[in-house]
Amino acid sequence: MRATVMYAAGDVRIENVPDARLIEPTDALVRVTRACICGSDLWPYKAMEQSEAGVIMGHEAIGVVEEVGKDVHNLKRGDLVVMPFAWSDGTCVFCHEGLNTACVHGGFFGNAEIAGAQAEAVRVPLADGTLFVLPGGKDDALLPSLLTLSDVMGTGHHAAVAARVHPEKSVAVVGDGAVGLCGVIAARRLGAEQVIIMGRHPDRIALAKEFGATDVVSERGEEAIERVRELTNGFGVHSVLECVGTEQSMLTAISIARPGGAVGRVGVPQDEAMPASQPSFYNNITVSGGPAPVRAYIDELLPDILEGRIEPGRVFDRITNLDGVPEGYRAMNEREALKVMIKP
Ligand SMILES: [Zn+2]
Repeated sequence: MRATVMYAAGDVRIENVPDARLIEPTDALVRVTRACICGSDLWPYKAMEQSEAGVIMGHEAIGVVEEVGKDVHNLKRGDLVVMPFAWSDGTCVFCHEGLNTACVHGGFFGNAEIAGAQAEAVRVPLADGTLFVLPGGKDDALLPSLLTLSDVMGTGHHAAVAARVHPEKSVAVVGDGAVGLCGVIAARRLGAEQVIIMGRHPDRIALAKEFGATDVVSERGEEAIERVRELTNGFGVHSVLECVGTEQSMLTAISIARPGGAVGRVGVPQDEAMPASQPSFYNNITVSGGPAPVRAYIDELLPDILEGRIEPGRVFDRITNLDGVPEGYRAMNEREALKVMIKP
């Protein structure tokens, strides 16, 4: 089959690789209908060390179940499924608590251990717990939004939950990538009254406004912090969704939270230490978040997509086949494209 293989920073190739196949009796084989390139794929794209074997990339997909192992009971051939970016058994203590990304038997797609989904097909471990079967007969027009349930919409929602977004409260979203924009949707969906998007890319800002952002802060650093305070009676916001993961973005996030506020972080941290320890302490700021248990959120978010109340699929501004994937990485890395959808 054909798949996207990354060998080093900037080196993404489409290659013929051995077909994905069942290995464990709890596996499913999924034919990929739609996949996409994630902002987090850009971290290895910038920094991955040379690898002889390469890594089959991709952790977001919708597909059709082609084959299931003998211990898979909740899925059958032909089911249309969402593949969350992490696999999980659905039965352990953490899965029961809705934190599937801490599953004691789980893991993540698209690394040296397990092949990813930017490919014609993908092997899904613990398929009963991992895959979410979509209701049949859905319009293809919904596929982009349904695809976001595998990561970015669930991740934006997780940031909002971790940041304790509540009705009538103020929210700031740090980062205007796909997760940040989904964070705007999530904050409004949870009833936030004021949603400040922090970013400067005109197309992304326009989409954020359509998603419900009420204010835009395009400044950076100290100026950005000042501007958010001006917009919030001098105090800062109740909730900050940190959707980038750099030292600077985390520093900004803590600096714009009001005393007693919360920061929900979903940007993959690029540093060992967390900045702004003293401001977060003296202002009683809760810092929470981590890998989003998107599997657990699908039940809650799916009806809003099916009934058209939210359209997170609008974050996709390009579609390509597998041949166009290396160019898709380049375009996202250079911020020409917001998020690239792949139709293998
Ligand atoms: Zn589990």
